[in-house]
Amino acid sequence: MDRVERAGAVVVGGGITGCSVAYHLAKAGVRDVRLVEKGELTSGSTCHAAGLVTQFNPSPTMMRFRRYSIELYRELGVFETVGSLRFASSKEQLMELQRTASRARGIGLDVELVSASEAAKLMPAISTRSLYGAVWVPGDGHLDPHTASHALARAARALGAQVVTGVRVTGIERSVRGSIQAVVTDAGRIETEVVVVAGGIWAPQIAAMAGAQVVSTPVDHQHAALRAVPGHELPGDMPCFRDPDNLVYGKSEAEGVILGGYEPDPVARWIDGVPWEHSGTSLPPDQARFEPLLRGAARRFPFLGEAGIVKLVCHPDAMTPDANPLLGPVPGVRGLYLAAGLSLNGFGGAGGIGRAIAEWITGGETELDLHPYRCWRFGPVHRDHRYAAELAREAYRYYYFLRYPYDADDWGRPRRTGALHTRMQDLGAVFGAKHGWERVDYFEPGRPWRRAGADQRAFGWTRPPYFDLLAEEHSAFRERVGIIDMSSFGKIEVTGPGALPLLERVAGNLIDRPAGSVVYTQLLERDGGIAADVTITRLGEEHFRVVTGAGYVNSDLGWLRLQMKDGDRHVDLRESTEDFSVIGMWGPCARDVLERATNDDVSDEGFPFMQARVIRIGGATALAQRVTYVGELGWELYLEPEWAEQVWDRLMAAGRTSGIRPGGYRVLEGLRMEKGYRYYGTDLTLLDNPLEAGLGFCVRFDKPDFNGRDALLAVRERGIERRLRTLEVGGEDYVPIYGGEAVHRGGEVIGRLRSCGYGFTARRNLAYAYLPIDLKAGGNVEVEVFGQMVPAAITTDAVVQREHVKG
Ligand SMILES: Cc1cc2nc3c(=O)[nH]c(=O)nc-3n(C[C@H](O)[C@H](O)[C@H](O)COP(=O)(O)OP(=O)(O)OC[C@H]3O[C@@H](n4cnc5c(N)ncnc54)[C@H](O)[C@@H]3O)c2cc1C
Repeated sequence: MDRVERAGAVVVGGGITGCSVAYHLAKAGVRDVRLVEKGELTSGSTCHAAGLVTQFNPSPTMMRFRRYSIELYRELGVFETVGSLRFASSKEQLMELQRTASRARGIGLDVELVSASEAAKLMPAISTRSLYGAVWVPGDGHLDPHTASHALARAARALGAQVVTGVRVTGIERSVRGSIQAVVTDAGRIETEVVVVAGGIWAPQIAAMAGAQVVSTPVDHQHAALRAVPGHELPGDMPCFRDPDNLVYGKSEAEGVILGGYEPDPVARWIDGVPWEHSGTSLPPDQARFEPLLRGAARRFPFLGEAGIVKLVCHPDAMTPDANPLLGPVPGVRGLYLAAGLSLNGFGGAGGIGRAIAEWITGGETELDLHPYRCWRFGPVHRDHRYAAELAREAYRYYYFLRYPYDADDWGRPRRTGALHTRMQDLGAVFGAKHGWERVDYFEPGRPWRRAGADQRAFGWTRPPYFDLLAEEHSAFRERVGIIDMSSFGKIEVTGPGALPLLERVAGNLIDRPAGSVVYTQLLERDGGIAADVTITRLGEEHFRVVTGAGYVNSDLGWLRLQMKDGDRHVDLRESTEDFSVIGMWGPCARDVLERATNDDVSDEGFPFMQARVIRIGGATALAQRVTYVGELGWELYLEPEWAEQVWDRLMAAGRTSGIRPGGYRVLEGLRMEKGYRYYGTDLTLLDNPLEAGLGFCVRFDKPDFNGRDALLAVRERGIERRLRTLEVGGEDYVPIYGGEAVHRGGEVIGRLRSCGYGFTARRNLAYAYLPIDLKAGGNVEVEVFGQMVPAAITTDAVVQREHVKG
């Protein structure tokens, strides 16, 4: 390579991800794409992959990534379509497979559930002992990682990309305005405005060269080549298998088997940085750690007990705290993109990821909902390498090991406790975890506090044992008054002369209202898709506070940064989550309680709905916001943390005669769903727009311009084709629905469930689903729940009227 060169884009890393990104960039017409690899191609995790790829995944985006990846590998002639079987070796796993099959159907992937004997016909080598069934995906298969990566690199070269090996990136230069201007290597400098970091386990170090934070941890993964056993030679076209209960996966090779698996106590290494000189060579394997996996495999393939290990491979892959990849532009560093944190899904993910990154770079957006994979979704709490490593290890542990939807993370806790933590403990809290916060799921009054972990494992796919406690919390909020610690709310201060223009541009609702106004709004993409769902309080002429979910604050903050344009007036964006504790109090008696605790006017006239006022409670000053997520009269109180306990105590004392009761986050689901309130990430995503979501009242078309205005006007003009509807699923008895289940009409899948919750006032299992527009309140559908069709009635958005809000 010459000493100074220019490139249209530089891709750092020559594993499967980098090769795919380079190929798709070149294909999208980017000129002079340069892939730079410090070793040979496939000098990282890529060369160790077992090469299995399945389309089966309940996430619509990941399923599409994988489906496209397989198509691409087929086109390149490097994919062996042998099908795959995913076994249920326990009754619980069979139910999980039924649930996942329903969710897969809900997103358009038709998978077949087969019996144990049908599975044995497809794979005669297995024992059917403790086999309860399997999912059969005929289009799945495997590839050779080396061949596939080189095929992509060749295809990239054929389109004009240059692949440079043996050259290490040592620095990334930024302009004074923060934009990428060059990549420095040990062989010279490459001027460029676009860099894609596809550096696998090294990605955090490479991104740090440009001042970006990337959260992933190398976690070891092992697989073994087992010798063929005479009399049990496996055919070359045997389907791939996954046996989650036995923690193993595999495929046939040389009449034996390649067998990998997910150890229950995984090992994270190099958590403070991966040596640059490591070149992807296999690390010393740990046979003792692999033994339980071998035993697991021998339960399904008994003859494997006699098969000797030819070779045991050990190498880490980059695991993120939630086992999802890290994709997209890096806020604040224009021109820097991430395609990293593949979390043992490199071959499944790489094709789709390469295409999405190319779309992002060339068009500024992608056709899929990449919100859950935004590379900036983690926050300052995840800068703690040890904490991030614990999350990554736990995500790995549950790669196969059955994790129930209500199970909470166990490892790395407690990481973040709020000012009200001891109060919550004293009240018998059962804590879940969210974005590092210890957060109350529900209370067990009179019992010692505890941390929830894999609790659902004890009760499985049935009604939770704490159901009646939720009913009691629910009735407090609905009939008297309930109180909740919401300090984990994400808060962002937006200040400066450019604050109002920025927010007005990205929000569907009108932001320019008098100071003290609280606005509920969606933040929109240019195509009208929903990027966030927030409240915005105007605190001054040039000061706004955006309040969002605990898990979304860094995602929303980064997204807002990406919306800033050259020429905008100055805006400061600052996360203020930990500056304020938040107490929520709602219910028909909420005003009586607040009046007893403050001398300020909290009457309906003095303190109208969707307003914020400073009030005093004892010696404390609180910003009270009259908003509601549970559909009852009440307030959120924003306080400096040192006052939180005192204010909590005063409200509890003032509420005693009204029967005040603390509640946790679990009860909010049923409360908000009875009133038709939506939740971001589940009911609202980038692929949904506010008109379909029933949030047209939040879109102010009279604003001259905002993101998505034209797109939404066009939608309004031609009419929406689907609409988020509330369903009552089954009868009064608890139905185990968790979200994602397929919705059927006349034998055809017409949608999937989004939020689910039990409405204790309505005495109904509630769910939301986007349904064809002709299906309205009064209509009927069916929901596929663990293989059974459960009737569901479409009802009005709010099944319990919002009569108390006006107060
Ligand atoms: C044992 C094992 C088995 C697996 N089995 C499967 C499987 O069956 N199916 C599946 O889908 N996935 C599997 N995976 C996961 C998959 O291999 C990875 O997710 C994927 O290979 C990651 O690819 P990558 O390109 O992101 O990273 P890598 O392959 O690690 O590539 C990163 C590249 O960046 C280069 N690099 C780093 N720093 C620099 C620098 N400063 N300058 C230039 N170059 C640099 C490195 O040399 C390396 O080649 C497995 C992983 C392991 C470890």
